[in-house]
Amino acid sequence: MNRTIFTGATVWDASGAKPFVGDVLVDGNRIAAVGHGAGKLKAGDAHVVDAKGLFLMPGMTEGHAHLSFESVAATEDLITPSPEAHTLLTARVAKVLLDAGFTSAWGASEAKLRLGVAVRDAVNAGLLPGPRIRAGSLEISVTGAMGDESREHNPRKGPSIIVDGPEEMRKAVRLSCREGCDNIKLDVSGDPFYPGTPAHTTPMSFDEIRMAVETAHAYGRKVNAHTRSIEGSKACLRAGVDMLYHCEFSDEELLDLFEEHKDHVFVAPTVSLFHTINNNEAAGVGLTAEIGGYMGIPGLVEASVQTHTALRKRGIRHLIGGDYGFKWSPNGTNARDLQFFVDYYGYTPAEALRCATWNGGLAMGMGVEKLGAVQEGYLADLLLVDGDPLADLSVLLDTNRLVAIMKDGQFHKNAMHVAERRAAA
Ligand SMILES: [Zn+2]
Repeated sequence: MNRTIFTGATVWDASGAKPFVGDVLVDGNRIAAVGHGAGKLKAGDAHVVDAKGLFLMPGMTEGHAHLSFESVAATEDLITPSPEAHTLLTARVAKVLLDAGFTSAWGASEAKLRLGVAVRDAVNAGLLPGPRIRAGSLEISVTGAMGDESREHNPRKGPSIIVDGPEEMRKAVRLSCREGCDNIKLDVSGDPFYPGTPAHTTPMSFDEIRMAVETAHAYGRKVNAHTRSIEGSKACLRAGVDMLYHCEFSDEELLDLFEEHKDHVFVAPTVSLFHTINNNEAAGVGLTAEIGGYMGIPGLVEASVQTHTALRKRGIRHLIGGDYGFKWSPNGTNARDLQFFVDYYGYTPAEALRCATWNGGLAMGMGVEKLGAVQEGYLADLLLVDGDPLADLSVLLDTNRLVAIMKDGQFHKNAMHVAERRAAA
């Protein structure tokens, strides 16, 4: 049996407790024991990792992954690559995420129907390195809304399935389920990138959303939704959507609805895309802060701060991550969200880390599998960090400081020899 013991680590177990010095024994793919205090556990025949001075924490979950988004600058980049080329790009991003300490990825949506599915299956078969993946579907949208890029004079295909009415929705969801998608993506509200349907509008109807949820749940799948508008978020909560994205606009009734549904819903604010535009990080592709201003991005960020600060105070389960994969905010930098949670929504660094680990594990484990904590019986997804993320969250952005990355009890990376040399020097 494959056994590993981390000895004398500073263990942050994600339970909400303060870090402590201790040993962690991994047996097979699970954490078999956690000892408080160094030298409390017998190593036996286990491979020993001397983790003194290193920070041991659960692997992180990206809550809104786009595995097939590789340096996207325009919709064209989602449509143009052939399925073969796009599959390779998707596989590459899966490795990038795991290299960055994300041992789980909740797929929001992908640019083609089976990209997430194919890579998930290859990772699960041990053929490729990557996180635990819940494969996202194509975006499902309605005529004239986000994702529908065809026009009367130019019927070009956008990166979405366009449906109208509950029956077409049922068909699209069943198709996505048949092809193996774990998560069905709905574009419920408008979006600042689609001027015909701005962020506060709600083109998808309640009956369409409810049909999507009923159908996906009948297949044991989950539904996640792009929703920025108040009415869109209300409709999602009332229809039983499992994961809500963005949710910038709110009123008191919506906040109460979130609280009513807090035991079975997850939320990812995904502020990174707007943060980077506001900070001129997208200027290289022509999307300056000034243009962002015309698009109303600063107002959306302001609304996001209000809504998600309120949701934090009400104990709604936030996940980090979201919309990484653009040219100016590439996959691999997803841990930036941790600091965004502190700066925008008032989380402490420890609470932000819990969103990335504990909450992420709850979502991925779906209430049946133990994931996202360093506790006995949990799946052994672990990061060994050279640095203290609680003092400086940016250490998690430096892959050189991720000394070891373990997924399912197996080392994806073990650079202990490098850490030892640094300690000796
Ligand atoms: Zn997205």
